[in-house]
Parts: sequence; C-alpha cells; structure tokens
Amino acid sequence: MGFKLIGQSKKTQARAGILRTRHNDVLTPCFMPVATHGVVKHVSMSDIKRIGYNLILANVYHLYQKPGAPLFKKINLHDFMQWPDSILTDSGGYQVFSLAKFRKITDTGAIFSSEIDGRKIELTPQEVIKFQLMLHTDILMVLDECPSFKSSVYEIAAAFRRTSLWASMAKQTFDKLAPGLALKDKVTPKQLPLLFGIVQGGLSTHFRRISLEDLISMDFDGYAFGGFFVGEPEEKVWPVLEYTLSLTPTTRARYLMGAGKPEQIVKAVKLGVDMFDCVIPSRNGRHGGYYVFRQNYKKLIASGKMFYDMYDIRRRKFIYNLGPMDDTYCQQECCLSSITYLRYLYNNLHEGLAYRLLSIHNLNFYYTLLKTLRELILEKKI
Ligand SMILES: [Zn+2]
Repeated sequence: MGFKLIGQSKKTQARAGILRTRHNDVLTPCFMPVATHGVVKHVSMSDIKRIGYNLILANVYHLYQKPGAPLFKKINLHDFMQWPDSILTDSGGYQVFSLAKFRKITDTGAIFSSEIDGRKIELTPQEVIKFQLMLHTDILMVLDECPSFKSSVYEIAAAFRRTSLWASMAKQTFDKLAPGLALKDKVTPKQLPLLFGIVQGGLSTHFRRISLEDLISMDFDGYAFGGFFVGEPEEKVWPVLEYTLSLTPTTRARYLMGAGKPEQIVKAVKLGVDMFDCVIPSRNGRHGGYYVFRQNYKKLIASGKMFYDMYDIRRRKFIYNLGPMDDTYCQQECCLSSITYLRYLYNNLHEGLAYRLLSIHNLNFYYTLLKTLRELILEKKI
C-alpha cells in the first residue's frame, strides 16, 4: 500500500511510480477526472473506465450536502456510483472558501450555510474523516483552509497554521477509526485507505516550508499542494512549488491540487509532481473546446515544445468538415463522428450527446498525455 517509485528522470525531477490503493494500482504520474458531486459531468463511469482511468476524484463538500450521510451510512460511494476502482475524496476546504456565501472559521472547524437549502453545516477535521471513511474511499484528504491569493500575509500564516492543527486532529481520528473499519471491511479486508496532508502557505517559501515540515512530522501517505492556481500570476507559482517539492519526501506521492492546463501538467511533472485533478477537460468539452495532439507530440513534449492545439467546434470553418476531431491517437467513440455532425449537434440542437462526446475526447487527451509523460520518464527522455 502507498507509493512506490519506479523510475526517475536524469534530466529533470520527473518520476514514475505506482500508487497502490486498497482497490488497485494507479500508475503515476496520473490525472484524476473530477466527479465532484459523484458524477463526471455528461459522462458515465463506464466511459471513464473505457478510456483507462482507475482513480477518480469526488468531493466531501458536495456529497455531504447531497445525497448526504444518511444514504452513505447504507451504501458506500463505490456502490452508489458503480465505480469499481479507486476514489480520492477532497475534503471540501477549498469549496468552503470559494463557494459558501456565509462561513465562519475557528480552530474547531468551518461553519457555512448550505448552497442547497441555506441550513448551517459544520465541517470539522474529525467529521470530514469520519464521512470519508463512511464513503469507503481509497484516498482521504484532511480538511484544510485555503485562503484567497489576495489575503494578507497574516491571514495566509493563520490559514496554514490552522491547516496544520486540523491535520493533526484529522490524523488522530483516522488512526483511531480506520484500522477497526478496515478489519470489518468485506471488500478489501484489513487494507487501510491512504491519508494525505495538504500543504498551504500561499506564495511564501517560508510558510510553505513550515507547513510541509508540520505535516511530515505527522507522517502522511502523500502530500498535496493546495492554494496554487487560485488566480495569482502563474509565474509566481513555479519557484514556490519547485522549492516545496524539493523538501518533500521522495517516498511519498505528491499531488498538485486543481492543476491544470496541459502545458502546466508537463511543467509540474518535470518538477516531480505525481498526481493531478482539474475540471478543464470536461468543462472545455461542455463549452465546445477540444484538444488535439500535434504530429510527433511525444517528441514535442520531450523537447519542451508546444504539443497540442485547441479548437472550437462552434467555428464556421468546421461546417463541412467530414473528418473526425482526431484520426491518430484517439480510438474512442468521440472520433467515430465527423466534426460537421458534432458541430450540428452542439450548435443547432444543443444536444447532450455533443457534450458527452467532447468530454470523452478531452478526458482521453489528458489520459494519453499522462501516459506519454510516464513513458518519457521511463525511457529517460525528459
Ligand atoms: Zn476522440
């Protein structure tokens, strides 16, 4: 169980590994499709599986409100979604800060008003762990406080210190409850889920270092980096991320939360990140955007050149294009249809099938990108 390093690049910090969860082995670097509410928008779990994914992400903040704990006491999240492989659940810290209209944060937890019915909900570090254990997910995240990049230095310091405090409370709850539940587990007996800590600290290398050291002293199965790509200038992220990664134990999985665009993923992999999640591929698909690799994309990625193009299916120039979105790497059903037909479904009918096929196409693009990066690392080409 946990992370095993398989290959390390000589030219960069890029690494290939295996993340062993209680359901399966996940090859890293990997991308996780985002099933925030228990669904990756417009696509089915069999679509996700067919592409090749075996780890997806769901979110405590949303699932806690709907369908809520009463359902999950009876049915775990795997059975609920009919998803046989691994699930990572994000704790909901980011959503409390970005979505909740009313919220109050104290050292004991976050109180916010539900988006659905306005009722007051309290998320505590302990409750978040108990709920994730109830969901029976494979990788649990601690509750964290993710401040805005516009926050003052004092607010950012207070947020990472509180994140450390919450992480220790979460870890205690996990250590107390997870082994007993694992013993009773009928699906994967005796196997513990993995618990990841979340490093905060904004764009301060000093805060990031203390935040990471706090978490390392508690010994998590993996370390996630939160609070990046939340609106700050991108060029300021990279040096801080690189510095933080250089201090992170090589024996643990490293997860960059909420990233990113294809070129950002390549850059982060070269710095030593193993795991990613982002809504971009499905969100772009819903908005008519689709990715296509350029010819010889593997060589282009290795040499650090631009390796893909993004197109807009709504464009007039596609009105008589009988070709598929891609005729090389994409073997999914999205590329059995012509561009002209997909454009018609999207533009004229606002047909759900277009959203589904474009989302599948983009998720396959991301899957292929991460698979290619892994090959390049193992072939020592990046
Ligand atoms: Zn396709």
